[in-house]
Amino acid sequence: MRNLRKPAGKHLKITVSQGIGFCSGVRRAIKIALAAAGRSEEGVLTLGPLIHNPQVVIKLQQVGVRPIRRLTRSGGVLVIRSHGASPDVVARAGKLGYKVIDATCPFVRKAQRQARKLHQMGYQVVIVGERAHPEVKAIRDHIEGRTLVTDSSNHVKRLKFGDRVGIIAQTTVSVKLFAAVVGEIVKRAREVLVFNTICIETARRQDRAAKLASQVDVLLVVGGKNSANTTRLKHLCEMICSRTRHIETADEIDSRWFRKGDAVGIVAGASTPRWLVEEIVGRLREL
Ligand code: SF4
Repeated sequence: MRNLRKPAGKHLKITVSQGIGFCSGVRRAIKIALAAAGRSEEGVLTLGPLIHNPQVVIKLQQVGVRPIRRLTRSGGVLVIRSHGASPDVVARAGKLGYKVIDATCPFVRKAQRQARKLHQMGYQVVIVGERAHPEVKAIRDHIEGRTLVTDSSNHVKRLKFGDRVGIIAQTTVSVKLFAAVVGEIVKRAREVLVFNTICIETARRQDRAAKLASQVDVLLVVGGKNSANTTRLKHLCEMICSRTRHIETADEIDSRWFRKGDAVGIVAGASTPRWLVEEIVGRLREL
């Protein structure tokens, strides 16, 4: 951890969590998209924003990486985001004349494979995650048949299961939630096969955030308000540090959040660039 002391004013003691900056999957997707944009005069398209960070998406647009809401007949180069995409979407894009470049994160690809394997082995597939998240939607579309998606162990208590249940996780759910859901299903099914598909980088980020939250007076969680993994970090930290705030940029900082001499911790989501965190540190030093 880096300790950055402010010489005057509120005398905040600022600690930035280790391992901030893009995760490997986001870094890889941006690299692939930028390389493809550099090769194409019209730039490249993504179905939805390439990553869940509005500030980075604006910068990417300026260099030719443009989000679209739906596929059209106009075609172009389509980069599949780190969240992955449904096989149907990829097939439709091909038929409509898009050149498809796959930037699915290898951890997400593995979750898709494991889900398919469970289904082929005859297990009822349960995905622990958010039903509306694009990664979960894409995983479900890789399985022919019904899957159950849940993000609550209480929800699971009300459900009935068949004899054989196979469980995987959205790559960014908390280990605590995954374990709680698995624990409930084990009580309700005769045979349970679990693939822990939580990405190791998410698990590490959550551990570091929880540790830092326990050591500071105020915790700032930096990242897109539309980012699932950042929102999860916020939920995790506010259970430990009641003065947790989720912000996207330095402009949202309110000096009334801080008392003189407060220890302030900063953690960030997997799609938050380092420069946004550095701007926030700079603003805190001015208080
Ligand atoms: S958080 Fe993990 S699974 Fe998601 S893109 Fe990053 S490395 Fe991949």
